[in-house]
Amino acid sequence: MNPETAQELLNVLKTVFGFQAFRPNQESIIRSILNKQDVFAVMPTGGGKSLCYQLPAKMMQGTAVVISPLISLMKDQVDAARATGISAAFMNSSLGPQEASDVYRSLKDNSLSLLYIAPERFAMPHFLEVLKTVPISLFAIDEAHCISEWGHDFRPDYLSLSAIAALFPDVPVAAFTATATQRVQEDIIRRIGLRRPHIVRASFNRPNLFYQVRKKSKAESQIMEFLEGHPGEPGIIYRATRDAVMETTAFLVSKGIKALPYHAGLTPGERNNNQEAFNRDEVTVIVATIAFGMGIDKSNVRFVLHADLPRNIESYYQETGRAGRDGEPAHCLLLFSRGDIPKIRYFIDRVSDEGDRSIAVGKLNQTVGFASHNVCRRRQLLGFFDEEYPSGNCGACDICTGTVEKIDITIDAQILMSAMSRTQQRFGAGHIIDIITGADTKRIRTLRHDTIKTYGAGRHKDKKYWRFLVDELIAQDIIREDGDRYPVLKLTQKGSSILFGGGKDIVTALKREEPEDKRRPAKDGGFEPYDETLFELLRAVRKRLAGEQRVPPYIVFSDKTLHEMCRHYPSTSAAMRGISGVGEAKLERYGKDFIDKISRYLDENPDISIPARKKAE
Ligand code: ADP
Ligand code: ZN
Repeated sequence: MNPETAQELLNVLKTVFGFQAFRPNQESIIRSILNKQDVFAVMPTGGGKSLCYQLPAKMMQGTAVVISPLISLMKDQVDAARATGISAAFMNSSLGPQEASDVYRSLKDNSLSLLYIAPERFAMPHFLEVLKTVPISLFAIDEAHCISEWGHDFRPDYLSLSAIAALFPDVPVAAFTATATQRVQEDIIRRIGLRRPHIVRASFNRPNLFYQVRKKSKAESQIMEFLEGHPGEPGIIYRATRDAVMETTAFLVSKGIKALPYHAGLTPGERNNNQEAFNRDEVTVIVATIAFGMGIDKSNVRFVLHADLPRNIESYYQETGRAGRDGEPAHCLLLFSRGDIPKIRYFIDRVSDEGDRSIAVGKLNQTVGFASHNVCRRRQLLGFFDEEYPSGNCGACDICTGTVEKIDITIDAQILMSAMSRTQQRFGAGHIIDIITGADTKRIRTLRHDTIKTYGAGRHKDKKYWRFLVDELIAQDIIREDGDRYPVLKLTQKGSSILFGGGKDIVTALKREEPEDKRRPAKDGGFEPYDETLFELLRAVRKRLAGEQRVPPYIVFSDKTLHEMCRHYPSTSAAMRGISGVGEAKLERYGKDFIDKISRYLDENPDISIPARKKAE
């Protein structure tokens, strides 16, 4: 096959999807598939995985088979593909016999570019027989981590997918996931039997998400204050328990906010209805326990607010990851209170296996550390996924933008490090803290550590404070713990230069019991403003069209696309084509309604000057 030129691929991207440029890694994945090479890709939520198989599906002969565990999402995915002008269908247990046989017919007619199926189909001999008789362009396995027992979401149905490679030796298989450690990655590749796959591990950084942690005082009034700063924006509020969910929902409704609850105590029907209402922009806020979100593909979630401590950093990252999938700015706020820690400890203490219990405690400490250390939130989050974020200013978290209050801890840091240094960096945190708080222990007496200069120098603060300081300095890479069984504290290079550098370096920590932080970070940090009045009008058009076509609004156009219209005011088809997210199919289907609305708006507001377009980079 001729390798497609970069220009050809860009043309398809532009005319079918209406996008100007590929996101990172999309082009290399697409090229591999077109060259019939297997692919394994870890990309974050919102990274644009679907396009990686939809674009080849559109270009190649035959049907692309997409395996996805989320039956609840298949219909939306098919609607989205059809809206883009790609012939698509799905097959799962929710179809009646007539619908299923229609899908089989179009599969046999070779008139489908995309077929979404649930994994259990692969255990059905009849289905496989049909599949063997029709041309297949590629297999795409979504949520591929479900095949691994090491992952957090193992589904036995996925094991039958290991038959694909042997049954279809000439068809490329592309596996996608948003979460996979190195170990899970190897497991997935082996179990699916990927043949020398092109491996992509994309950065997990989500530059459009703003991370903020605030001290929790009165959760409900803090939530309300936040919502007032984000009027009408769709978002998710996470609470730890059903009761808290119900209370917060009732509170918000009493304040005139359109909010619905989501938790395991509701019937599946109620949960589904509430999720759908949110999906279709009929309510703005969902208040949920952590169970919520697996089946949510809504791209215009503008904030995720955790009003209670999340279970661990992985879930926090996944939950906040549901914000801003369209690439537009979104806000992630965590209300943190040390008072929440015992509640989680209570559940951990009930875990019977000692090993599991200590893992859970470790994870809780990580979460508390995330909230309390004076280290860029983004850098910390990425660190959990073994990704080193450059230590410079990320520009989109409360630490980096300076919206948190900090205190100078240089002197205390020096006391601690000096005690470490005077004992040749050969002792663990407990003993060092004993020295600086002037404890009278047998060990101190035997080692004569009561004679060193810093003995008792930190008496003015309690052990808990010094424990916090140790963790803080570790997080800031000033000291580190060395050794597994009996870890000792060592100075890092940074630590040495602080201790011996003659006082030129200042060490700061977050003020712990900080006063209410009224300053709100700039909402559109780094992103261009748009005409918010027009946005409301276009949003209404989108909602009407979506209702008529019975699809969620974001399938008509994403927020990102509407924002762009609200910057450039396209009032002709040609101008509309220049908007990201407007391909030919959508232009034909929806273009006129939006053009009409924009033209009328321009007529009514003659003083609006339309900015000249920048050339697409
Ligand atoms: P994922 O499945 O990786 O979470 P999606 O495939 O749902 O992400 O894509 C997230 C959003 O990004 C969608 O709204 C999609 O239309 C948009 N998108 C994907 N690729 C591009 C691109 N090259 N340019 C602009 N937007 C894109
Ligand atoms: Zn930062």
